[in-house]
Amino acid sequence: MEIKADEISKIIQQQIEGYETEIDIKEVGTVTSVGDGIARIYGLDRVMFNELLEFPNDVYGLALNLEENSVGAVLLGESHLVKEGDLVKRTHRIMQVPSGPSLVGRVVNPLGVPLDGKGAIKTDKNMVVERLAPGVVERLPVKEPLQTGIKAIDAMIPIGRGQRELIIGDRQTGKTAIAIDTIINQKGKDVVCIYVAIGQKNSTIAYIIKILEDHGAMDYSIVVAASASDPSPLQYLAPYSGCAIGEYFRDNGQHSLLIYDDLSKHAAAYREIALLLRRPPGREAYPGDVFYLHSRLLERAAKYNDENGGGSLTALPIIETQAGDVSGYIPTNVISITDGQIYLEPELFNAGIRPAINVGISVSRVGGNAQIKAMKQVAGQLRLDLAQYRELVTFAQFGTELDKASQAQLDRGERLTEVLKQGQYVPLPVEKQILVIYAGNRGFLDDFSIDQIENYEKRLFEYFDREHPELLEEIAEKKEISPELDEKIDRIMTAFNQEFKGENA
Ligand code: ATP
Ligand code: MG
Repeated sequence: MEIKADEISKIIQQQIEGYETEIDIKEVGTVTSVGDGIARIYGLDRVMFNELLEFPNDVYGLALNLEENSVGAVLLGESHLVKEGDLVKRTHRIMQVPSGPSLVGRVVNPLGVPLDGKGAIKTDKNMVVERLAPGVVERLPVKEPLQTGIKAIDAMIPIGRGQRELIIGDRQTGKTAIAIDTIINQKGKDVVCIYVAIGQKNSTIAYIIKILEDHGAMDYSIVVAASASDPSPLQYLAPYSGCAIGEYFRDNGQHSLLIYDDLSKHAAAYREIALLLRRPPGREAYPGDVFYLHSRLLERAAKYNDENGGGSLTALPIIETQAGDVSGYIPTNVISITDGQIYLEPELFNAGIRPAINVGISVSRVGGNAQIKAMKQVAGQLRLDLAQYRELVTFAQFGTELDKASQAQLDRGERLTEVLKQGQYVPLPVEKQILVIYAGNRGFLDDFSIDQIENYEKRLFEYFDREHPELLEEIAEKKEISPELDEKIDRIMTAFNQEFKGENA
């Protein structure tokens, strides 16, 4: 067979051209298919996991699937602008968000783009969105309290800085309310609060921001929002972005509080992406790595030791359950990752017990160390009294005749339950919480009917604020109720009881 010289040179030329594109495809790729916010790309051989990719028309993507012959990326912007055959460039940047003090008071999306119309964010600090959690050696056990200002929580389910405490319950049981009250209570406590809204309605997010503004809480808070109308990749990114923003403060020796509202929607957004990326589904169609999704996020909550600046990041993830079922895949995962749970129940909520916390099964496994001694002194008794009360309630339902002692316990429990009720947006300083729980424990409330308790509490605080502010200060300062202080409180409360009785006779 005869081979023509020009044919040979053509083949050589083709091969050289092919060789060149082989170099090229390490840095540049071509979109082979696009749809549902996902792009498959040929090329980009050297791309990193979580690297930002540049598409035409200013659209960015995130490389999530690194396969042998292709790369799967989620599109972060207007995905309809990306077409088959488009060129994709590497940016050599792992996904980052801006952080720093200038972010405080702002509302941003998970990419750090401002949503509040207050202009560009001036900061040169960027934080990598996904980072390794601090190791064991750099950490300290939880030892400083993170006061929520909610009586039932601070007394019985105390949270410490650096802790991860789950808020779990059905829809409309007051989960967000607990988180918002906790943020409001951080005023003046040098804690930067970051509220991450995932998959919520825009109107709900706007309402929350307004509440925070009205209570002066935006002065020390940041909102990271990916609403239900945002593409699922943004919802997936939101908690990691929020966490990275918080890490800036943690790493600089400050304290931060992260609220993830909520991780159920986050898991659903991830499921959507994973299925579109053709990762094999497992239980409840979640991909196999969904546990890792939340564990790597929540591990980043930490309290640093002094050599590392002593900063902290506390995480309050929220999980929504269906009909109280905590055995679902996502709830069990997050329960096992966190250091404790606050269970909210619709039955309690509807019975008017708000916050609707089931104190019997809610726990905080590490926060006890962070509770001040004075609170421990009054709260130990409270837990016991309530437990006995719960046992008796079921018993009393059958109309059983109760002996005098049991009836007294029932009455005490009813009053304590009443004391633990609390409205929204009125977090209480710890010394006042101690005061009213003390009143319940020591039987000061036993002389009054249930419907007088709310007013009693209000008047009690007024009385102490007016007549004995020094006593409240003493509790706050000494953090302990000495026998002398105990005797003083007892005496003054007796005097107050006389006054209150006179008024309500
Ligand atoms: P969703 O599942 O819709 O996110 P949620 O569990 O976050 O709901 P919230 O939105 O916090 O619940 O609260 C539900 C409703 O209950 C709201 O109208 C809120 O104002 C009210 N509420 C919550 N806590 C209290 C409280 N302590 N006292 C009175 N009302 C409350
Ligand atoms: Mg909510």
